[in-house]
Parts: sequence; C-alpha cells; structure tokens
Amino acid sequence: MNDPCSALDALEEEYEALARRLGAATWLSYVGEEEGATVEDPAIVRAEFGPLFERAGPALAACRTPGDDPVLARRVEIWRRCESAWRLDGDPEAVRLRTDLERRVNEHAFVRGDRTWSRSDLSRLSRSDDPAERRLVVELRADLHREVVEDTLSLVSLRKDAATRQGGGTYAEAMLGAEGLPPDMLDPLLRELDERTAEAWADVLRRGREAGGDPAATLAPWDVPWLIEKLGTIPDDRWPKERALPALTETLLGIGIELESLPIRRKEGDFGYGGQTLAVSIPDDVRMMINPLPGWRVWGTLFHETGHALQGVGTAVRSPILKGYEWLAGASVPAYAEGMAELLGLLVGDRAFLERRTDLTTEEIERFLALWRARSLVALRSHLADVALERALYREGTDVDGVERETAERFLGIVRPADAPATWAATAFLAAYPCYMQNYVLADLIAAQVLQAVRERFGEGWLDDPAVGAFLREALWSDGETREWTVRVREATGTELSAEAYLAFLTGT
Ligand SMILES: [Zn+2]
Repeated sequence: MNDPCSALDALEEEYEALARRLGAATWLSYVGEEEGATVEDPAIVRAEFGPLFERAGPALAACRTPGDDPVLARRVEIWRRCESAWRLDGDPEAVRLRTDLERRVNEHAFVRGDRTWSRSDLSRLSRSDDPAERRLVVELRADLHREVVEDTLSLVSLRKDAATRQGGGTYAEAMLGAEGLPPDMLDPLLRELDERTAEAWADVLRRGREAGGDPAATLAPWDVPWLIEKLGTIPDDRWPKERALPALTETLLGIGIELESLPIRRKEGDFGYGGQTLAVSIPDDVRMMINPLPGWRVWGTLFHETGHALQGVGTAVRSPILKGYEWLAGASVPAYAEGMAELLGLLVGDRAFLERRTDLTTEEIERFLALWRARSLVALRSHLADVALERALYREGTDVDGVERETAERFLGIVRPADAPATWAATAFLAAYPCYMQNYVLADLIAAQVLQAVRERFGEGWLDDPAVGAFLREALWSDGETREWTVRVREATGTELSAEAYLAFLTGT
C-alpha cells in the first residue's frame, strides 16, 4: 500500500539540510571566516525554502488525514503553519533586505569624529553621570537609524503587501499567530502586566529621582539606565567576567547537567545583539556569540544563551520539522525558546544562586536584588513600548516617529524631548526577528512559573538536586514541538501560563 504521507520523510531531510546550511551561513556572517567552512550568503540559502514548500505542496495535500498517528498529524500541522507563514516572508526582495539589514546593523561602527565606540562602551556611556555622554548614546543610535530606516520601511511595505494578499489581519497579527501567540491570547496578558506594574514603575521613577538628588528632575527616556543605578549599584568589577563560566558550570552540575560534555561552542564579539545562540544542527551542534558587556550583564547574557543552548542539545525528537529550528516562522515558538533561556537568565537575580556562586556580600546581594527588580521593570515596560511601536508599524498610515514619542510617555512615563532624533529603526530585530519583543516578556512569565514549580517539586535545595536537570529535559526540551508550547508549560507546572509567578518575582514577594 502506498502511504500518502511517506513523502514527508524525504522532505524533512531536505528541510533539515537547509536549516543546517542557513545556521552555518548565519554563524559565519557573525564571526567572519572559519577554517574549513564554506561561506554562503544567508539570503540565498534562505530563499531555497521557497522551492521546498512548492515541492511539499502535493505531499501535504495528499497527507490530509494522517490517520491515528498523533506525531504524524503534528508534523503535518507544523508544515502547514510554516507554509502559510512563509508566504508572509518569502518574497525574494524581502529575504534579501532582511539579511542585508541584519548584517548592516551588526557590522555598524558607532563613530563620532575620530572615535569609535563598541556596544559595551555604549552600555557604560548610557549610565554616565554626564548628561552629554548619555545624550551621545542617542545621537550614535540615531546615526544607525538614519542609515537603515529607508530600507527598513521598504521591507515593512513588502511585508504589509504579503499580509494583504493573505487576508485576515496585519503582518504583525499574522506573524504572532504563526508563532503561537495569537493576539487574543497575548494582548490580555500584556494589558494585565501593564496595569499591575504601573504603580511599581512610578515608584521606581520617584525613588530614582530622589536618589539622584532632584525629585523634580526633567528626564529623557534614555536617562533611565542611569537613574536606575542611582537606586544602588554594584561596581562592575564585583562581577568578574572570568568567574561567569565557572559559576554557570558549577550551578548546572548541581542540577545534574554536565555543561562541558555538551556540543556547545562559545565565541565572544561585539555585534548587534547582547548574545545569540544558533542551533546549527539539533541536537549536536549549537554555537553562541557573547557580547562582553560590563559587569553582571555578561553573566546574564552567558546564562541566558546557555539556556537556549540546553534546549537545543536537549531535544531528542527525530522528525526534523519538530526539532524547533528557528529559521521558519511556525517551526518553533520563540516566546517558549526565550522562556527556556530565561530559566537560567533569571538565576542571576536569585538570592540562593548569588549567595553560593558569587563573592558578593550579603549587603551587596540585597542591593543587587533591588537593582535587578528595578531593571526588570524597565525591561518589561520598554518591551511593552517596543511591542506597541512594532504593531503600529504594520498598520496603515502610522507616523512611526510620533509613535516612538507616544510609547515612551505611555509606558515609561517620560516625555521624549522635542529635539530628540528618532532611533526606532536602530535594531536588527525589526528586520531579522520581526515581532519579537513580546517574546522576552512571555519568556519571563514562563521561566518564573517553571522555576516556581521546580521549587515546589524539589524543595528549596533544588539547586543541589541532580534530578532537576532530568526533569527539565523530559518535561520541557526533549520532544521539541511535538506538543503545543502551552501544553508543555501546563504539564510541567500544573497550571496555565499566567502572570502571577513573574509579578511575585518582580515585587520580591
Ligand atoms: Zn534569547
């Protein structure tokens, strides 16, 4: 008997070969040439998904009723999701602009006069006591904005056209649906977070102003990182960079994960993201880039990226379309992947971790935790602003510069000065990872809820229980996309995803 679904196996082999080539090409675009590696243009490799979907069409149509095999049914479902999302992003000119813009942002040099600043320098300048230095960061980001804004708008316009052809909502709404976060699920959660953190945020601003010595100080949105540090900071050298990896390795060993034995490569470099993990071949080749930002930030990045890597190397599913490769919308759930990264990322703000794996004194730990919570609030409210801006970007007739002003006031409670240059396009995310920022918000909800469940299941000594690693692998990583992500969260934690655990973490209760 001829099984109408048997063609899927060969198609998935082709799919995985393409995913690996695109992963390797993207990696080389970050790190430059490597010995023995063939350099390919990521845009050209990505474009090959188009013909693959054309070949897959008849097989998917024939395999409409995959019988009583739930894994096969899931494979067909994911293929269909990817195929429909591809139509939003598959235009050859859009593919070219996407990779070109990502490369230009990553390679951009921040230059004024005869000085060049790295992203690590910008992080330091943004916290300087000199307002001119803080303003300089905005001017430098505005240079990048001007360089890429026109092409960004061309890409947005192509995406809008594709969404119109598809019908049923804007590009952003369609993309969110393809990535497992339909607006009717996402928006109520974002609204709840906005409402339930508004007071805490106003309090942070008030305390920051007081600590800065001028309760009536006029602030610009870019003064926030500096203001937060007024609440009490830990000098960067209390977080020695060379201690980050040993602290991580020891922590993972405690929960039964031997980091050194895993196929994970790390490299340092100044590029457009804080860090980036590419699962080039799942589960046996995962690579990460780390931007050496000062102080605890590089710890946070290393932990977060390693969380991504553990998901990649912990995936044991056989079907390539279920492995969660990140290259096609619909093949993975970025919010969930970020949640897995934050399982480790949130540890940097965990008292038990800080007491055991850093040299911080009890007093420093308390100060850091207060700073951490304030920073998490900034991150949350900035992400809400970013999401609002990007959703508006894909609606007709939006004055995006105007929205950049409105969202700063709406979510940060700070008026953008009239002479401030626009900076919203100065990011690789808009092009390369469209509709991404809410994933960082959801990630912290997922991670906080899982960590709470782990504490309940394994007790307060969970950081010394080797069974924890096995639990995470089994409950959250091993079967890839076989189960919908909401089911994975529910089954691992016993409840539907909600904002409760994260809000408790944010308020330190
Ligand atoms: Zn991440």
